[in-house]
Amino acid sequence: MRTTQFNADDVLIVGGGLAGLFCALKLVPRPVTVITAAPIGEGASTAWAQGGIAAAVAEGDTPEAHARDTIAAGAGLVDEAIALAMAREAPDRIRDLLAYGVPFDKDLEGRLTVGREAAHSARRIVHVRGDQAGAAIMAALVAAVRKAPSIRVLEGHVAEELLIEDRRVAGVQVRGADGLLMNVPARAVVLASGGLGHLYAVTTNPTEARGHGMAIAARAGAVMADPEFVQFHPTAIDIGRDPAPLATEAIRGEGATLVNGAGERFMLKIHPDAELAPRDIVARAVFAELQARRGAFLDARGAIPNFAQRFPGVTASCRSAGIDPTRDLIPVAPAAHYHMGGVATDANGRTSLDGLWAAGEVASTGAHGANRLASNSLLEAVVYAARIAEDIGQLPSPKSVRFVEAPLGATPAVTSDPAREQALRRLMSSHVGVIRDREGMRRALAEIAGIERKWSRIPQLRNMATAALLITAGALQREESRGGHYRSDYPNADPAPAKRTFLTLDDARAIAASVTPARRAVA
Ligand SMILES: Cc1cc2nc3c(=O)[nH]c(=O)nc-3n(C[C@H](O)[C@H](O)[C@H](O)COP(=O)(O)OP(=O)(O)OC[C@H]3O[C@@H](n4cnc5c(N)ncnc54)[C@H](O)[C@@H]3O)c2cc1C
Repeated sequence: MRTTQFNADDVLIVGGGLAGLFCALKLVPRPVTVITAAPIGEGASTAWAQGGIAAAVAEGDTPEAHARDTIAAGAGLVDEAIALAMAREAPDRIRDLLAYGVPFDKDLEGRLTVGREAAHSARRIVHVRGDQAGAAIMAALVAAVRKAPSIRVLEGHVAEELLIEDRRVAGVQVRGADGLLMNVPARAVVLASGGLGHLYAVTTNPTEARGHGMAIAARAGAVMADPEFVQFHPTAIDIGRDPAPLATEAIRGEGATLVNGAGERFMLKIHPDAELAPRDIVARAVFAELQARRGAFLDARGAIPNFAQRFPGVTASCRSAGIDPTRDLIPVAPAAHYHMGGVATDANGRTSLDGLWAAGEVASTGAHGANRLASNSLLEAVVYAARIAEDIGQLPSPKSVRFVEAPLGATPAVTSDPAREQALRRLMSSHVGVIRDREGMRRALAEIAGIERKWSRIPQLRNMATAALLITAGALQREESRGGHYRSDYPNADPAPAKRTFLTLDDARAIAASVTPARRAVA
């Protein structure tokens, strides 16, 4: 049996996207281990962000205005104090990123240039070379992390379980790149494992975004918040690629329309702004056309001069499927894009479990409510990663380093079951996706609970099922439509004061048990 040495006084960060790497850098010189499922810089939504980061850095803009826009987008569920504090810290975090080497676009006088995005009342999105923000941020942070001797990165390592000792989180059970299991002890564990788009059949997220962080925290007893709120992007390019490439909103902004297979421009009868209606409304309309088997297409033919020069990424994706956007319709489908819910945290990023913090998309801080304002997610990741580093920094520093031998388990188990994972994703898209109703969700919940029970020995599948169970239980309980959560049987918002959802895995299982007539075998 081989062993690996771990410093038991380490901080262990699960995830190497923006939240994880920023937290690790802020903790320098404290010893930190970062584990990432994919090679560092890959397998992270951060690297794919095209817009940028929202921050009130332009003349005339204020954090108060930024917070107001955030609160309006969140459909009654944003924690207002959290949104305001996040907006106030944004300029400092942008300065941190500049110091780590992120080349945000500047004007000739050296001032940051800012762009405008939907539902922002001011120009406040800092970006890099147009749509390269995510890739540039990751490149700069990866380089900074590689130079920091106090940060150790374990790539290709997957967290499967939290270790609990004396009722606090004491480390993580990790599957190494060789498929073997090890227990990694830590004084503080930071979950920064990103979102869960891959619980759905069509998503814009990398494959690593499959809800693991939420599942392992929930199984250890942590409280989840607002799991039912998933944001769907209305126009992923539907050419059978997984993940699906995005047809950016800018294409509709430039005049492309949405049509069904019969050539009907279906948005005209749904919203006065037609294709430029809010994201969730367009996503529902596209979904309805697909459900009715009429098809949904983006029609950019003749609408946009120099299409290939202006949208090279979209053009390349289309061409790879034999589609010429200047002559052909582009097939589109709504895609799971961002998770507003997650592991509930306080203003320091602490979860309900001692020893466990959460930052980035895996966390639910209250900043997004029922719907995220564009470009607030990268901001939330850096704001909370910095706060967590400060909070952990107040733990007494280790006087001496305690090395623990972590034995590497002998037998690699079967870790995934692609066919059942696909079936679960289709189930979520059909019944817990863009349009939901009681009957569909009850059926889905019973089936998901069965998968979670029956396939608990296959860690990837089990963690996906656990995360799916939490979303579905939260969605079934919310008998209204609000933000990213739309129910055809409750199409309006409840007029009573809006409340966030807080639930544990035991709560979710109890809800599942109440809809499951009897234990039945699940194929
Ligand atoms: C196409 C696209 C465009 C976007 N554009 C924008 C934008 O312009 N502005 C904006 O604000 N937001 C945008 N977002 C959202 C934003 O990118 C994400 O919310 C944000 O990057 C999340 O950062 P994170 O660090 O929490 O997670 P990620 O960057 O996804 O990183 C998660 C990390 O955790 C690792 N991981 C996952 N599971 C495990 C496990 N079990 N064990 C070990 N490691 C694990 C992953 O490999 C990865 O390293 C976009 C998202 C997408 C998909």
